[in-house]
Amino acid sequence: MKENFLGVDVCNQTYEQITSSLMNDIEKNKKSFIVAINPEKIMKAQEDVSLKELLNKADYQIPDGIGVIIASMLKGGKIRKRVTGIDMMLALCDAAWKNRKTIFLYGAKPGRADEAKQKLEERFPGLQIVGTLDGYVKDDALIRQTINDANPDIIFVAKGSPTQEYWIVDHMHQLAPKVYQGVGGSFDVISGHIKRAPAGFQRLGLEWFYRLMKEPWRWKRQLLLPKFILKAIKK
Ligand code: UDP
Repeated sequence: MKENFLGVDVCNQTYEQITSSLMNDIEKNKKSFIVAINPEKIMKAQEDVSLKELLNKADYQIPDGIGVIIASMLKGGKIRKRVTGIDMMLALCDAAWKNRKTIFLYGAKPGRADEAKQKLEERFPGLQIVGTLDGYVKDDALIRQTINDANPDIIFVAKGSPTQEYWIVDHMHQLAPKVYQGVGGSFDVISGHIKRAPAGFQRLGLEWFYRLMKEPWRWKRQLLLPKFILKAIKK
């Protein structure tokens, strides 16, 4: 079920397989944690043991990065399609909508989670988003109480990586939700404040190229991609 790249686990299931096991986890009252994995995180984990442990603590490490697909192909693995954080979130919203599960949105700048809630409710009429909280509230007791009072099945945490993942492992055992996913800037995208690459780029796995054109100063970060692939196949 899992492949390993430079010490970091990545699961090789599809959106459908993951959402259906998550719906099962909710029924069984089992808690699950989903983290998106890309070459940048794997490379960072090489120098940061606690980050590596954190990523491996997740129940589902989704392959959100073309580099992971290439490395899997070259190493004879089975991962052929990206499972992106935002599409995983939308697939879970769809499953929650069909299975009458409830959702909480936690993170991003004040107002963004509410705007994302509105957009999601337009897309999935009747979807139950039972609460929102921005990602800059400091009072931990208030955060826990707000989430537990809303008592959702699923919580999406949008505070950037790895902050959101550390927050999830530190809190999930004291909180009501069963499913925890770290979703980075997804509320900014869903609310329409940040644009994703056009569908064609996404389909071809060229989101990184689109971002390079839009934000050329990121080129140094992107050198990590070939570096990661070389290192992963050498091992
Ligand atoms: N953010 C937050 N609280 C913080 C810092 C950041 O809620 O203390 C939010 C920020 O507003 C943004 C998201 O976290 O919506 C980070 O998005 P980014 O795309 O940087 O995350 P990545 O996908 O790179 O992990």
